[in-house]
Amino acid sequence: MKEPILTARKAGLVACTRCTRVYPPDVDKCKRCGAPLSSRNPDALQRVWAWWIAGLIAYIPANIYPMLKTSSLGSETASSIMGGVIELWAHGDPPIAIIVFVASIVIPVGKFLSIAFLAYSLKRPTSMGRHARHRLYQVVEFIGRWSMIDVFVVAITASLVQFNLVASVNPGIAAICFAASVAFTMQAALAFDPRTIWDD
Ligand SMILES: [Zn+2]
Repeated sequence: MKEPILTARKAGLVACTRCTRVYPPDVDKCKRCGAPLSSRNPDALQRVWAWWIAGLIAYIPANIYPMLKTSSLGSETASSIMGGVIELWAHGDPPIAIIVFVASIVIPVGKFLSIAFLAYSLKRPTSMGRHARHRLYQVVEFIGRWSMIDVFVVAITASLVQFNLVASVNPGIAAICFAASVAFTMQAALAFDPRTIWDD
């Protein structure tokens, strides 16, 4: 679908990404706010994929090694994220199981898929329009700002139910890998140059 859109680049201008003022293409620093100007971030896509792959690699041990310690009737078991969700669900804590599942599986996987789709669809035709893809980028970026909430949700719900000895976060390799994975995918989203969505 071709939409008649005039971008700053097509008009021979470069816009400041921080304060949105536009300049002729030969200016390399914003005179209003001092931010460096570039029409498109060079090697943005390579950076996106590099951070994305690093995030995915860190996400694997985060799901394999024990993340949650659950205990019922005095016996304690350490389990992976998914194992912990099943354990919580089975032992009568479905709301907490759902919160942990959404925060540590649904949101991270959704972020991986969205960033990959955005980067992949730059050079290839897709059924999703540019406006919709820009919107998707804004959603991913917005979630990115709150990314550590994944870890916080698990930590807070764990501390809330701690006195019942239901679940707690095992501060081991899985938690470290999970935090690293969140940080890496956040970098992948930041490295993405949303202006490239509008290039032909
Ligand atoms: Zn500026």
